[in-house]
Amino acid sequence: MSSKRNSKPQKSRLGQNFLVDDAACRAIVDALGDVSQSTVIEIGPGHGALTSLLAPRCGRLIALEVDPNLALENRAHFISQPQVTILEADVLSADFASLIAPAESASVSGNLPYYITSDILFKLLDAHTLLHRAVLMVQREVAERLSAAPGTSDYGLLSATTQLYASVDLLFTLPPSAFSPPPEVHSSVIRMHFAPRFVELGLADVGSAKQFQQFLRACFSQKRKTLRNNLRSAGYTQAVLDSLAATGTDMSARAESLGLKEMADIFHALAAEKH
Ligand code: SAM
Repeated sequence: MSSKRNSKPQKSRLGQNFLVDDAACRAIVDALGDVSQSTVIEIGPGHGALTSLLAPRCGRLIALEVDPNLALENRAHFISQPQVTILEADVLSADFASLIAPAESASVSGNLPYYITSDILFKLLDAHTLLHRAVLMVQREVAERLSAAPGTSDYGLLSATTQLYASVDLLFTLPPSAFSPPPEVHSSVIRMHFAPRFVELGLADVGSAKQFQQFLRACFSQKRKTLRNNLRSAGYTQAVLDSLAATGTDMSARAESLGLKEMADIFHALAAEKH
């Protein structure tokens, strides 16, 4: 189906690089596992390369497409499949909670529009309580950042935040020729299992997880700066930072060299200093 409906012009500003590798489409859909009783949210169905494989497998399929012409095309194509809903919508403004049944845990599928990959990932992490699993095509360098270990050059805020809320598997990588038109970069498919590490990190609830996320943002705000300098810029006083250093915390370390557990220890120590 992808190749049959792929002759229409694309809008490069919307990241419209359509997947034309049928084996890759099947592998992406297979990687979601059994979704026969679940709701799947598809981000950017395009000409339906993944949608047509997902539709017969899902309990419900809700596809969000921002391009009005593509939304219309898909609506016409799936009109006889009542489990499929095509919404003309910007994924970044969509309210996931209103799309799925209360207490349901949905899965997400999508060959993402690359101009907003990070924004979509942060949105999914933010909606982690509503989600079970996501299988996503992203730029290869983003996939490497998501699964990077602390201390490596790829590790940064996106890695730390993702690993706070989910575990990530890098499944496979595709060359530009798997798409029409080909993008400028290689692409990788990742699978995320949403399983927050709050308990292990001593974060009592979603509220303190949010504060920890803000703390991570502050620590990573300037990549080349030390923890001390980034935290000072974020408003922590010299006295608080000095007393933390006195407890043995290496304030000259950079955030990307520390794992989540070490970051959480510093976060808790700072909270204790402030009281
Ligand atoms: N799933 C199709 C495939 O694999 O061939 C299309 C993937 S294409 C890389 C990305 C799709 O996302 C396009 O159809 C594009 O119009 C759509 N899109 C772009 N920005 C979007 C947004 N903000 N919200 C929802 N869909 C968007």
